[in-house]
Amino acid sequence: MQDHYDLIAIGAGSGGLSVVERAARHGARCAVVEKGPLGGTCVNVGCVPKKVMWYAAETAHRLEDAPGYGFRLAREGFDWTALVTKRDAYIADINAWYRTYLGDSGVDLIQGTARFVAERTLEVDGRRVTADHVVIAVGGRPTVPDLPGAELGITSDGFFALQAQPRRVAVVGAGYIAVELAGMLQALGSEVSMYLRGETLLRSFDAMLRDTLMEQMLAAGVNLFPRTRVSRLIAHPDSVELRCDQGECRGVFDQVIWAIGRTPVTAGLDLAVAGVSQDEQGFIPTDAFQNTNVAGVYAIGDVTGRAALTPVAIAAGRRLADRLFGGLSDRHLSYENIPSVVFSHPPIGTVGLTEDEARATHGSAVKVYATRFTSMYHAMTDHKVPTAMKLVTVGAREKVVGVHIIGPGADEMLQGFAVAVRMGATKQDLDDTVALHPTSAEELVTLR
Ligand code: FAD
Ligand code: NDP
Repeated sequence: MQDHYDLIAIGAGSGGLSVVERAARHGARCAVVEKGPLGGTCVNVGCVPKKVMWYAAETAHRLEDAPGYGFRLAREGFDWTALVTKRDAYIADINAWYRTYLGDSGVDLIQGTARFVAERTLEVDGRRVTADHVVIAVGGRPTVPDLPGAELGITSDGFFALQAQPRRVAVVGAGYIAVELAGMLQALGSEVSMYLRGETLLRSFDAMLRDTLMEQMLAAGVNLFPRTRVSRLIAHPDSVELRCDQGECRGVFDQVIWAIGRTPVTAGLDLAVAGVSQDEQGFIPTDAFQNTNVAGVYAIGDVTGRAALTPVAIAAGRRLADRLFGGLSDRHLSYENIPSVVFSHPPIGTVGLTEDEARATHGSAVKVYATRFTSMYHAMTDHKVPTAMKLVTVGAREKVVGVHIIGPGADEMLQGFAVAVRMGATKQDLDDTVALHPTSAEELVTLR
């Protein structure tokens, strides 16, 4: 191993791994510093274990639906421990694969915790390394509130460490993680209560998505407590008691899960030594090219506080490497029209402006097409799940500026429509596209 590199990334998560791999492919000498398992949040305590649990929850729903298709099943319960053991083995395989991938890419892995000791000089557990370019890709960690007994609760990290299924669960929060964990636990048989400080789940999403999801979660048996401020947790011998400010909510649970956002992991980096600016929440502001305020120091991924999604961290990392070493001087990521999926039950797919955002910007030039129906799959099942779709268009040509879908399959439906939105598709383009039948997606090209 050497002490000077063309590029060093701090953090071997989605962003850090992507920038070093692409830079190495362009011929740069690269290293990545990692204090934990390879793959970062997404692989170890995020997208990957979450999606495994979501598939398990979807399977539970399918089993409920199976009698509608003529199956006579004897259910013998669900083995949480067996699933978690298998899931963790799968993740260990991915960790190992990344190690090989780094080696094959010619990237040095430096294991330990990095901090700045000068502008482009890092110390990793006593060893000094320097680089022409340093990329900060340290991600975030779950936020825990500052209130009495908060440590009695767990976070998404703790959820993935559970070796047995909790029977009664409180989820505090109303964002992506709260919705996903609550939906999975409910489907797998836990009794779930959600405590929202506001009126609604997924506050920044289109109203149609929010309303349909809340209706569906209530129908599935999730207890929703809007406008509640959790004030303290109290320990009991085998449970945790949750109390709210106004005293109107009080419950006893096996687990309380904090899902109230994530905090950037910048505290131990000694950014001030390098002169790198942070905002008041600890995020590192960057310009359109991922530059921080210090030349030769960049930030990508969750630590920038913009669109905290794995493909965004990957795309920003690859584009940065292309710019620095691939001769593409203008290459950068556009943060507009980033598609996103929420793995709720049913899932949500969304890209572009919500109806409210479009109306606020474009006023009466906005025209909306929407539909709500029950998919053919549920014609045979006792348990019905709605599908709802909305296209938001602007102007005389009806340019599509937003696509919002909730319903079975929405997660897999959205990607192609995101391409269409990015390319500037109009409603006529969608209408001129021949439908696929019988599918739910065809409704998006036949809306009236
Ligand atoms: P990370 O992946 O967090 O990687 C940062 C790495 O830096 C970590 O490995 C950390 O150990 C390391 N590090 C930190 N400080 C130091 C230091 N000083 N020295 C050395 N190493 C350091 N996104 C999606 O797109 N789809 C999903 O379905 C999805 N599901 C999610 C579910 C959950 C429960 C969570 C929590 C997140 C989910 N995300 C999802 C978000 C996604 O995981 C993140 O956007 C993504 O991991 C961000 O990548 P990153 O490289 O910025 O940071
Ligand atoms: P989000 O930003 O999605 O949601 C945070 C939630 O916490 C909001 O509902 C907010 O309420 C609530 N909240 C904040 N502070 C408090 C508080 N003090 N008390 C009670 N509630 C509070 O964060 P998440 O942690 O759910 O997820 C982090 C990010 O990870 C997401 O933004 C997303 O980018 C990414 N992610 C992506 C997934 C995917 O792609 N499927 C899945 C999981 C995570 P309010 O609405 O009132 O502001």
